[in-house]
Amino acid sequence: MSQSRRVWKPAYVGLGSNLENPARQIEAAFELLRGIPETRLIARSPLYDTAPFGVVEQPDFVNAAAALLTCLEPLDLLAKFQEIERNQGREQGGQRWGPRILDLDLLVYSDRVISEATLSVPHPGIAERNFVLLPLRDLAPELLIPGLGRVIRIPVNEQEPRITRIV
Ligand code: ADP
Ligand code: MG
Repeated sequence: MSQSRRVWKPAYVGLGSNLENPARQIEAAFELLRGIPETRLIARSPLYDTAPFGVVEQPDFVNAAAALLTCLEPLDLLAKFQEIERNQGREQGGQRWGPRILDLDLLVYSDRVISEATLSVPHPGIAERNFVLLPLRDLAPELLIPGLGRVIRIPVNEQEPRITRIV
């Protein structure tokens, strides 16, 4: 595509790790997001320490969110996230909700609603999990999410395991 036709779209990423120094994994992931072609890292949230969800017999997670501007299409951006996950040593086919070195989820992509076999956007976790919602809220409280409304108005789930801001 010619330079003049590139359109920069806002995208938000959820990051998670609970293996091999999770905070360092997240810090490294921010830098790797910065390196994605045709993409800019605009902002990064604080880090949160999160009690594991579902499979509770595993280490705590560190979670965060990042804001990007990108010219990549959503599936191409997802492919870049998965490449980063693999390069960081994440094993394929791990247990759902299970331990992982790095998880990169596409939370929001502009005003797009996507329901494909390999990609759901907005990410369902935004309304369901505090570890997705809280870092996103730090970055973009006024963001209007298709089908969900403004981030600041999405209720925090009081029943969920603890989550603590660490940085
Ligand atoms: P999870 O993030 O749900 O714990 P995985 O990271 O293993 O689990 O992702 C499983 C699959 O979820 C991926 O192969 C990907 O195709 C799919 N997926 C669907 N929607 C999204 C999204 N918005 N962001 C990232 N992956 C997604
Ligand atoms: Mg994931």
